[in-house]
Amino acid sequence: MKIDLNIEPLGSWIKAKSEPLLIAGPCSAETEDQLVTTAHLLANTGKVTALRAGIWKPRTRPGEFEGIGSIGLQWLKRAKEETGLPTTVEVATAKHVEEALKSGVDILWVGARSTVNPFTVQEIADALRGVDVPVMVKNPVNPDLSLWIGALERINGAGIKKLAAIHRGFSSHEKSAFRNEPMWDMAINLKTHAPNLPIICDPSHICGNRELLGYVAQKALDLDMQGLMMESHLDPSVAWTDAKQQVTPAALADIIDRLTLRKPEVKGEAKDILGELRSQIDKIDDVVFQKMGERMQIVEKIGNYKKDNGITILQVNRWDEILNKRVAFAKALKLSPEFAEKLLELIHSESIRKQTEIMNKEQNQPEEKLTHA
Ligand code: PEP
Ligand code: MN
Repeated sequence: MKIDLNIEPLGSWIKAKSEPLLIAGPCSAETEDQLVTTAHLLANTGKVTALRAGIWKPRTRPGEFEGIGSIGLQWLKRAKEETGLPTTVEVATAKHVEEALKSGVDILWVGARSTVNPFTVQEIADALRGVDVPVMVKNPVNPDLSLWIGALERINGAGIKKLAAIHRGFSSHEKSAFRNEPMWDMAINLKTHAPNLPIICDPSHICGNRELLGYVAQKALDLDMQGLMMESHLDPSVAWTDAKQQVTPAALADIIDRLTLRKPEVKGEAKDILGELRSQIDKIDDVVFQKMGERMQIVEKIGNYKKDNGITILQVNRWDEILNKRVAFAKALKLSPEFAEKLLELIHSESIRKQTEIMNKEQNQPEEKLTHA
């Protein structure tokens, strides 16, 4: 599926001061001095292209610091005047949009808690109609690609052509080293659906800590994301929000210095070498699919036999046996057990689906989707 977004290239609205493109600033604007001082320190690194700061903060519980509010817009204005950095803030209502635009904020972003709600996104989109301002849309809190795409479509539908997505990770119940699971596949899928859409990675909200920022930022660049948004505070230990994941401007500069920039283009000798390796992969993929087709034909025979002889589709022992044997084999081949297990589950659920189809051929059965896809 391709989604049709009518967008202008990233370079038409933001020009990276240095590579990679970096949008940085505190999680929240707290005081005028904190914001303006941080902005100066960031600008002085020479690595920051735009200043971010939250002034309306969506907080999980009432009573927590919910952002400094509209007064912060004046501080952002001052920070911009003094440093020359364009500014960006999160907007979550039509009123936020109106106020931010009136104060000359250069770029708006839609937060993860807003992207989940089509009513909110539509309200923001309606407020943006007829305005030529760049908008970045964070992924929704939950791993739902359609919601993310839907929000981008709503904003684009209101006539916003300067559009980008921000990948900030997804909430998950699994215990993990990350505050929000990166689920890189989500960003890769978005890129596949909308190849012309720039994606910026937000390592700060993915990590929730300082230690993994460099790792996540590097991975984002290696996946050819177009830039980074990172939180920076002049003294993270006393930050009013997201203290654990913020870094000083100097520490941020250090993280950026350690990144390796790689190119997406494949040319010259690399083209020949990669071309040869890729053609080997293509041949192997053909064999994998060929074998998969043969496997499914045997599954069909098994299904028919089971049907004719009144045998259930699933024999749990047999499935356990397959799983154990193959995972051990995969390990010997240096494949990760998780990969082997996932692949087997996918193949197995397709086999079950095929046999169900055979068993119920005469009945009017609903079409079933693969459970492990
Ligand atoms: C933020 O950028 O400070 C923020 C609230 O992010 P998110 O919407 O990704 O949680
Ligand atoms: Mn934050």
